[in-house]
Amino acid sequence: MNKNLKPISLASCKVTDSYYDEALHLQVKNMLALDPDRLLAGFRETAGIIAGMDEKSLTTFMNAKERYGGGWENGLIGGHTLGHYVKALAQAVVNPGLDLKEQKAVKERLDYMINALAECQKKTVGSAYEGYLFGATLPTQEYVDNPVLQFDYVEKGMSDPFKQAWVPWYTMHKILSGLNAAYLYAGNEKALQVANKLGVWIANRCEGWTEEQHENVLSIEYGGMNDCLYELYEINRSIADNGLVYGDFERFKNAAHSFDEVALFKKISAGGNDILNDTHANTTIPKFIGALARYEVDNSATDYLKYAKDFFDMVTGKHTYITGGNSENEHFGRDNILNAERTNTNNETCNTYNMIKMARRLYAVTGDKKYLDYCEQTLINAIMASQNHTTGFTTYFQPMGTGFQKVFNTLEGNFWCCTGTGYENFTKLQDGIYFEEDDRLVVAMYLASVYKADGYTLTLDCDFTKSDEVKIRVDVKEASAIVDLYLRIPHWIQGKPEVKVGHSVVEPKEENGFFVISKELIPTGGEITVRWPMGISCHNLADGEDTYAFCYGPYVLSAKLGTKHIKIKPHGIDVVVAAEKSVDSDDVVITAEATVDAFMKNISKYLVKLDGSMDFELTGTNKKLIFTTHYNQYKESYGIYWNYSV
Ligand SMILES: [Zn+2]
Repeated sequence: MNKNLKPISLASCKVTDSYYDEALHLQVKNMLALDPDRLLAGFRETAGIIAGMDEKSLTTFMNAKERYGGGWENGLIGGHTLGHYVKALAQAVVNPGLDLKEQKAVKERLDYMINALAECQKKTVGSAYEGYLFGATLPTQEYVDNPVLQFDYVEKGMSDPFKQAWVPWYTMHKILSGLNAAYLYAGNEKALQVANKLGVWIANRCEGWTEEQHENVLSIEYGGMNDCLYELYEINRSIADNGLVYGDFERFKNAAHSFDEVALFKKISAGGNDILNDTHANTTIPKFIGALARYEVDNSATDYLKYAKDFFDMVTGKHTYITGGNSENEHFGRDNILNAERTNTNNETCNTYNMIKMARRLYAVTGDKKYLDYCEQTLINAIMASQNHTTGFTTYFQPMGTGFQKVFNTLEGNFWCCTGTGYENFTKLQDGIYFEEDDRLVVAMYLASVYKADGYTLTLDCDFTKSDEVKIRVDVKEASAIVDLYLRIPHWIQGKPEVKVGHSVVEPKEENGFFVISKELIPTGGEITVRWPMGISCHNLADGEDTYAFCYGPYVLSAKLGTKHIKIKPHGIDVVVAAEKSVDSDDVVITAEATVDAFMKNISKYLVKLDGSMDFELTGTNKKLIFTTHYNQYKESYGIYWNYSV
């Protein structure tokens, strides 16, 4: 057990890869383009009503601004966006990738949001709702008379998203996580004071539940309430002698326990067939991040670590596509039923955001490299793949059905759950590249970046779309600061890697999937060069023996299918999805080999990389297809999986 492994701070690492850097700036630009008063409108309205303001004072307090529209922000889930927004701003504030103007703007925006929330919370002092912060719409007089009505409904098991409650605890998780992040990342002390007061409101609520109410609450999506409450507990515990701390912070831990769904945890760990069938994926994943959080704050709770590990294995083993994504129309299906469920509504983006979050934290507590392999694969092929690289807008679903296209939000039209996780994703692209432990640094992912540690700076240069070489330079300020480097051996390499220190080829020791470059070997200012040989790999599906996807190194490839069939249609509650397939069938007939197996075995002969590009021409079949890296396919319809036959 590697108890001291931890991710390096977001502030210490700058991503220098130009595509990732552009992705960050696009996201920051879009976030700053939003009107903070419109994101705050619901919070101010609720607080003003609690304070008994008349209509005129309320309008003034709201700066005469309304909530955004689109069905979510002006619905009963309204306010969830603010939570994501605050968290993403906090991440942006410390992101060294921002220029000075951006840094100033995001800092001012974050402070504005936190000050406004503190002001809202102040309005509740002395009322029956002290500490409460919420921004959802108040559609009838009943909601105006009782601003916590959604929580009351949930306790009665009533959850109609239009007439009763649309997952208020899910929204509360986003709000509290945002406040925690504003303190943890950006050092905003007021945010912690607000979080603590909100935490007390939450603890009061949880402590009052009857057994039946408790069961009802757990039966309705509540995000990672356990995770954010353990986090708040841990923040208070770690600075227990600080004046900011809420004295009775053990209550936050107990409140977190009340969101630990132990019956579900035990059911997953017991295993069996089709356990996750028909469960809502993004409701379930955060519950297990919460289980892991319990272990993180209390290392004796080893059962909870096991629950998270078992769940992760179940999802990645039986429910996951090559991009790292899971689910169909937001739900897990039966075990290993993936080909049969390739549609226009696979792989909700929140799910991959959450699975990466869990995988990074599981790596930190176990040291097991498989979690890092998952993170790299999913970051590139699901998260980077979620952005329109012209507008910066992001996906909800990512279709695995061949011939559909990605559909993106608009700036002020779609405040989906995945829009909010999109803000978070692209403001922390440096997360998970490096981990540190005692006297070693783990290079977990090969992404061009500069890491400024105490006493040395590590510069990593690589771009696998151009070369399979990674160059690492270590500039040492204090000789005593230097550490051993643990280089993750990528799961996708084909052939023997080569490691050079300066000009000399070395044979580094291999340890649990990592090359160890001991500190004595590290040349000051000199370079370590590693070549990770790349090639094409073929990946079929458990229920689609001849249905294959291709990867080149870490990149999932998808066929480019043109723009003629890019149409959208409404889906679910105010979501938009791809409406039309650009192909009549997913069938590809092999003409160059006698069997599908022989074709896949010799794939490097038939999927030919075109000079100077990341395009690959498929030959030896009846279909002319050009594949390319999937992460930056956002203009055309695409096909990852195809059914091959002879
Ligand atoms: Zn989502």
